[in-house]
Amino acid sequence: AIMSTPTAFRPVLERIAEEIERTPGTGRPADYIPALAACDPRRFGMAVAEPDGTVYGVGDWREPFSAQSITKVFTLALDLAREGDALWEHVGREPSGNPFNSLVQLEYENGIPRNPFINAGALVVTDRLHTRTGDAAGELLAFLRAESGNPDLTHDEDVAASEAAHGDRNAALAHFMASYGNIDNPVPVLLEQYFRQCSVAASCADLALATGFLARHGIRADGTRLLSRSRAKQVNAVMLTCGTYDAAGDFAHRVGLPGKSGVGGGIIAVVPGHCTLCVWSPGLDERGNSVAGVAALDRFTTLTGLSVF
Ligand code: GLU
Repeated sequence: AIMSTPTAFRPVLERIAEEIERTPGTGRPADYIPALAACDPRRFGMAVAEPDGTVYGVGDWREPFSAQSITKVFTLALDLAREGDALWEHVGREPSGNPFNSLVQLEYENGIPRNPFINAGALVVTDRLHTRTGDAAGELLAFLRAESGNPDLTHDEDVAASEAAHGDRNAALAHFMASYGNIDNPVPVLLEQYFRQCSVAASCADLALATGFLARHGIRADGTRLLSRSRAKQVNAVMLTCGTYDAAGDFAHRVGLPGKSGVGGGIIAVVPGHCTLCVWSPGLDERGNSVAGVAALDRFTTLTGLSVF
């Protein structure tokens, strides 16, 4: 049955949290930087936010975690709001079928990354947002604080430093695209912005609320419009097809919602017109998606009957 009243979500979330607690996690935290490898894979939190800003949660839903690639949704929206369709001349919108940090496709497609959610595409988006604002990471932070209503939301400096110390792959991607003229800023400037962006620490409550504009068809928390209705739809479409690394088909099959994951173990998801969700559990599967996070979203859409299909 479709749950239509806000309070109906609480028993569903409580049931999911109990089920997750009973099933020991099989995933492992990301280990490409020490700051993430140290996370306890048994942590679990989940929040659902209503379009009116009401938020419910269970477990560690108020605990900040490393947002990582989830931030790519917000930089995409912020850049699209400023430059509109011109962005799509610099980044595509097709699933890549390759790992998030893959280089190979760029050579065949003249330095134009497949989509805004693989690292190459996210670097292009951040580069363009930085050119337009002079401070892409600051613009992102201001947006997340405003939408979540949490003025303390900030970067984790240890994670940012750790990203920079292990950033050879992202540096290679940026230099390679720069050689095709698809990067505007000096590569070191772009990388600093990108690593700051990835290091944002936010809770399930913060990120569910910050994603609200995608459930409200482009309208921000204060009632102003960030994106046109059709651009909000486009962002949701790219999340559905490209938001969960090279497992987007499986995620659509199991969950049936636009979603974006990050290697910190978070996943945001959107039920347009109804609600947004954020779930966090650091144990990842081999494709980089949170095992308990995908399971929880799968249960949520099954128990509520909500989906975009
Ligand atoms: N900071 C990570 C990287 O660029 C983000 C990866 C992710 O969350 O997908 O490698």
